[in-house]
Amino acid sequence: MEWFEESHHAYWRQRFKIDRVLFHSRTEHQDLIIFENRAFGRVMALDGVIQTTERDEFVYHETLVHVPVLAHGQARSLLIIGGGDGGSAREALKHPGLERIVQVEIDPSVIDLSREYLPRHSDGAFDDPRVELVFADGARWVEEASETFDVIAVDATDPIGPGAALYTQAFLDACARRLNRRGVFVAQAGNPLDLMHDQGQELGRIGDAFADVAYFHATVPTYMGGPMMFSWGGTDPAIREAAPDPAAVPAGLRHYSPAVHRAAFALPAWFLEPALAAP
Ligand code: SAM
Repeated sequence: MEWFEESHHAYWRQRFKIDRVLFHSRTEHQDLIIFENRAFGRVMALDGVIQTTERDEFVYHETLVHVPVLAHGQARSLLIIGGGDGGSAREALKHPGLERIVQVEIDPSVIDLSREYLPRHSDGAFDDPRVELVFADGARWVEEASETFDVIAVDATDPIGPGAALYTQAFLDACARRLNRRGVFVAQAGNPLDLMHDQGQELGRIGDAFADVAYFHATVPTYMGGPMMFSWGGTDPAIREAAPDPAAVPAGLRHYSPAVHRAAFALPAWFLEPALAAP
């Protein structure tokens, strides 16, 4: 195999040159490949969908974690659903105020293989005592758990395979119940065209579950089309509208800044209105 072709869109594909396959097998839950590509470094795909690359993973992980944590301002607990490569846990640990980080990942193989082949993603996060790893289906876990969190970040695959359970009304309702007062829920929501065509109901579904609903975005070259959407489910619009405290921003970030944070919520109309970008 010379090229890895992302084929989950019926009419739209992207390809990455495979310089060397480092690992390829079926785990208990999904097909997992890690390969090298000269432009992106090491690349991981699950069930044929690119998940992360060494080159630009920081954009995604800094956005997913720092936007809700810094918007909240006093977050002490974080629940990560998915995130097996460890990039989200790594970013979360940069916040000294986060005393407890629970990560619920369905597939232990993603964690093991990411530690082996993508060690800079987790950068030791899975050995940190503030991170508690739980191996379980995130949907089932939030349904059955009683603990509540200041921030919930869903760092999951698209709504195919094991990830499908994380795109249901039941899951969103359960996450809303797991939020503390002033809590914030965020989730990766695909590119704007996905949002329209494949997850077009999502805004409404989140609206049913959370008092404050919004989307924000970052440009991640790895993901199809570039713009990557994130959904926001808050308990109070004031949390989303408040300016993040510059003094609380971790040092050494490559993407996030308070200005980028504000800009992430400024969306072109066509990102949310399918009719404006109809073919
Ligand atoms: N950045 C990526 C993206 O946007 O596509 C997400 C990467 S992360 C590797 C996705 C993780 O979600 C995987 O490790 C996968 O095993 C996990 N996952 C999928 N479905 C899950 C579920 N139902 N419960 C918990 N974790 C799940």
